[in-house]
Amino acid sequence: MPSAAPPHLRHLRKPRRPAAALLDEISSGAWEPLSAEEILGRAVEHFHPRLALSCSFGNPEGLVLLHLLTRIEAAARVYTIDTGRLPQETYDLMDRVRDRYGIEIEVLLPEAAPVEAMVRRHGMNLFYESLEKRKLCCRLRKVEPSRRYLAGLDAYITGLRREQGVTRSATPKALLEDDGRLVKLNPLADWSHDQVMRFVRENAVPVNRLNQRGYPSVGCAPCTRAVRPGDDPRSGRWWWEQATTRECGLHSGEENEGSGI
Ligand code: SF4
Repeated sequence: MPSAAPPHLRHLRKPRRPAAALLDEISSGAWEPLSAEEILGRAVEHFHPRLALSCSFGNPEGLVLLHLLTRIEAAARVYTIDTGRLPQETYDLMDRVRDRYGIEIEVLLPEAAPVEAMVRRHGMNLFYESLEKRKLCCRLRKVEPSRRYLAGLDAYITGLRREQGVTRSATPKALLEDDGRLVKLNPLADWSHDQVMRFVRENAVPVNRLNQRGYPSVGCAPCTRAVRPGDDPRSGRWWWEQATTRECGLHSGEENEGSGI
């Protein structure tokens, strides 16, 4: 079942499909020259409230976007996926953000039955045993909840940047997914790490405390570790795998789910 808009947003606008001309404009690359603020402004104008920001609360990029987006639309929707394996620092940040910005965060949970079956069969730490088992865990705990939620949206926003590693070097600022039905926006695609951190400092944006302890990207606790200065920021995620496989399926398209963490 697709997730419905939260009660406080249901009165805003009836669901409607995006106009074909708008989707053509987006798929043609016309949004590529736009700034992050311009993309967010257009996104709100065309898609809110069937628009949401995907924020893992593990990377500064999602918080930069949350800051920018809530300045444009105070009732902007923000969602995150609680895999059940997140570090306490990530939960702490979610509550700090709720207080600072006065927003509700839509927290998605995995379906209990498939996760129970997975751990019964393969154990709690199956992800270390093979790529196949790691992807199974990511699929049940992240990709499936995301897919169900995105079925109820017309557009979503992520903090992907091209600099973040080999799997993200060709990230466009706007594209269509799910057979052209769903708009994915990556407004920070061309931002550098320094730009992100300058914005965080200048605007006192709250970030995950682990980011200051050598974790540029915080995911699930058992699958994330600190990296050395200068290393690929994604190298602390699933560090036992090859660099080319270090995606959970949310952004790689391999799960064909539309693609956020
Ligand atoms: S990051 Fe690790 S614990 Fe989290 S869903 Fe993927 S495999 Fe499972």
